[in-house]
Amino acid sequence: MNYIVFDLEWNQSVDATEEDTKQLPFEVIEIGAVKLNVAREITGTFHRLIKPVVYQEMNHVTKKLIQMQMTDFDQGDSFVQVMEDFFKFIGKDYMFCTWGPLDLMELQRNMRYFHIPAFQNGPLAFYDVQKLFSIAYEDKKTRRSLEYGVDYLSIPKDIPFHRAYSDAYYTAKVFSEIHDPLVLALHSYDLFELPKSKKQEVKMVFPGYAKYISREFEDKTSALEDREVLSMKCYLCRHNIKRKIRWFTPNGKHYLSVGFCEIHGYVKAKIRLKKSEQNMIYVVKTVKIVDETEVEKVKEKQNHLRELRREKRHSK
Ligand SMILES: [Zn+2]
Repeated sequence: MNYIVFDLEWNQSVDATEEDTKQLPFEVIEIGAVKLNVAREITGTFHRLIKPVVYQEMNHVTKKLIQMQMTDFDQGDSFVQVMEDFFKFIGKDYMFCTWGPLDLMELQRNMRYFHIPAFQNGPLAFYDVQKLFSIAYEDKKTRRSLEYGVDYLSIPKDIPFHRAYSDAYYTAKVFSEIHDPLVLALHSYDLFELPKSKKQEVKMVFPGYAKYISREFEDKTSALEDREVLSMKCYLCRHNIKRKIRWFTPNGKHYLSVGFCEIHGYVKAKIRLKKSEQNMIYVVKTVKIVDETEVEKVKEKQNHLRELRREKRHSK
């Protein structure tokens, strides 16, 4: 297994007049990647420029960031050619690592635009090194710039930032500093390709919680009628659990429920309904073992909601 740490530079429309801005808001113009073995030593590098075909003028944001001219990309190859070589470089057994979730998303959007088959059917597991950095060194929620991470870990800054290869290289350096197995257990899922069938649905147990990502449903109602979506099992022992608080929604966007496992105690579940690009609905459910104070908080939310309803009824 190899880690493929990569970074992209992309260009966007100058005035959004092109027809393609919706399908391809960001055209990839540079790919840089570093291959690491399981010991996270660098065993290969990849760096290519891509000759743009959709946006011929460089957006000022891109220009400022990467300090290059459009003519610099004339020597580049086509996206299709570069991806063919990139596929050879990554091999068969790999895990992607990127700084933040956007690069993997936009790479796949470019692949779809240029009719290149997806990496795999369904969600792709990857390391979001920006997230891992926050979990390992900060508060888990803050998202820092790559340069911040590099400075924080006193990694020598021997090449300039904001070019695809250098950013991949620095991301690899930050990634190599993270050794805690509990942090490394926390990979992310890219959902550009959602599960297309029940079989492709994601069910993962992470340290401290479990995650389920459903296939797509026609609408909210059919999602909320699905047994798997509503089911509550203890993710540690797989036993069915006693329902303590039935599913309810504090705001119409997410749903909460609490159960009790004889062995592991209170289990809180949260369903988030999300809209896919095709305007379908999919569900992300997280389940976690919680203590009594957390259960009280959920109860309070439910009571508050009931009171609001009562008031509404009386005011009619
Ligand atoms: Zn249990």
